[in-house]
Amino acid sequence: MLHGPGDLRVEEVAEPAGEVVVHVEAATTCATDVKCLCHGHLILGPYPARFGHETVGRREDSGERVLVGDSVACGTCPPCAAGRAQLCERMTWVLGGFAERIAAPAAALHSVPDGLDPAGAAMAEPLAAAVHAIARSGAEPGAGTAVLGGGTMGLMLARLLVLRGCDVTLADRHPERRAQAEAFGAAAVEQLGSHDIVLEAVGRPEAWQAALAAAAPGATVVFVGGCPAGSDVTLPAAPLHYAELDVRGAFHHDRAEVEEALALLAAGDVDWRALAGETVGLDALHGALVRPASGEARKLVVDPRL
Ligand SMILES: [Zn+2]
Ligand SMILES: [Zn+2]
Repeated sequence: MLHGPGDLRVEEVAEPAGEVVVHVEAATTCATDVKCLCHGHLILGPYPARFGHETVGRREDSGERVLVGDSVACGTCPPCAAGRAQLCERMTWVLGGFAERIAAPAAALHSVPDGLDPAGAAMAEPLAAAVHAIARSGAEPGAGTAVLGGGTMGLMLARLLVLRGCDVTLADRHPERRAQAEAFGAAAVEQLGSHDIVLEAVGRPEAWQAALAAAAPGATVVFVGGCPAGSDVTLPAAPLHYAELDVRGAFHHDRAEVEEALALLAAGDVDWRALAGETVGLDALHGALVRPASGEARKLVVDPRL
């Protein structure tokens, strides 16, 4: 339970109540969890708050292995009606994967394909956001695309672009992450050149500016990384106007994109093991989340049974 910024406690709590109780087998972590822990997050709700949003386990009622999707859209608000459920105005967030059990609405659940490990299936949540971002980019086979940032999201984006048949360049200052990008089939550099599609996957104002600076005339720039709350970003007017840049955000995903991500992971098209780091129990979670990132980009796997 999060009791406030930086105040994470492992404690016995009341049994989770909800439509379906799921016994957690694996919950992977991402930068959002670090934000939740250190600074709080809009989606957390009031303290004490449960967190962890990339969650796989077995249903208590049927024993079926399921991915617990982290959100359920209302289905009726204007964005939902327009087919953009990721922008739902009445989203129900389903958090609490860092626990032995989690309760979820049945509508949040996805069957895990046979043969896919729990830790791999948990990565369908962030991979679905990457699937969504690629759709937002409009990348077609053969397009000259670039990804700024070789964290796990950047690497997922690069892999999806490679699978789509794009020409992919990923930029990161860490040689270990560049090697991971190359293993995924992308070219890797320290600094981007000029590209027709640029996906930003860092989430800092200066990275948004760098992504725009790497946009060729007529390019599309997609901001995938969320900047810290309250950030303002200054962008140069000239290329936005005279180079007709398309600048767009990409946020979250819908149910179909989660299903697509699960299929990609089950087929081995995205090698989740290349993105999986240390497996830790609940007691080790705090220390592992605040540990400075080393060279490679890898997600922690939390197994509450440890
Ligand atoms: Zn995440
Ligand atoms: Zn809605």
